[in-house]
Amino acid sequence: MRILPSKRMEILIITGPPYSGKGTQCELLKTSLGFTHISTGDRIRKEKEEKSPIGRIMTEYEESGALVPDEIMQDLIGLIIDENLHERGIILDGYPRTKPQVDTILHLLTDRKLKVKAVINIDVPQEELLARAKKRAESSDRKDDKDINIHLKRIEIFEKETRPAIEYMKTRFPVKNINGLGTIKDITKAITAAINA
Ligand code: AMP
Repeated sequence: MRILPSKRMEILIITGPPYSGKGTQCELLKTSLGFTHISTGDRIRKEKEEKSPIGRIMTEYEESGALVPDEIMQDLIGLIIDENLHERGIILDGYPRTKPQVDTILHLLTDRKLKVKAVINIDVPQEELLARAKKRAESSDRKDDKDINIHLKRIEIFEKETRPAIEYMKTRFPVKNINGLGTIKDITKAITAAINA
């Protein structure tokens, strides 16, 4: 039997297209909120490095810019939530990305009586995303950062899978849209205001 801590962990969901600056914002917010930052992409890359069984399966998807299938992600997100139940809160960066993933997270939260503090959607126009992707390619070691075709594929997948998932989330949570253009500091300020509103 799973023993739940008396003070329930809260969840902040940060969503938005690839190259929108989610990771940077999550790293800044984790300090001010005292939450743990969980990036599913980082976790996948860690599993890959460690050559764990799940990491071996996920590598092909991650490197090609495709989404890892929902059933495989379901096991990973369940594990991540349960590993962190004693935290004050977690910032989920990169999950959910599809409608079935929204259902999975809803199920996990209901089952564990956990609360979503806020859902933040960082909005950035496509031309800017591509410009940022190109810049990131210069310094990144990630295979999926090096190829313009993968940049385009990831943005296309966002439009096809993740945008409808965000719309679906709006039927369950108040989703706050944040303009992702501007200085990093201004965007953090806007997100913080939206969380506290
Ligand atoms: P990220 O670091 O968030 O850009 O994610 C890198 C890659 O990891 C994505 O392109 C996907 O291949 C995989 N990934 C991360 N999160 C998810 C998710 N929620 N569902 C499916 N695949 C994911």
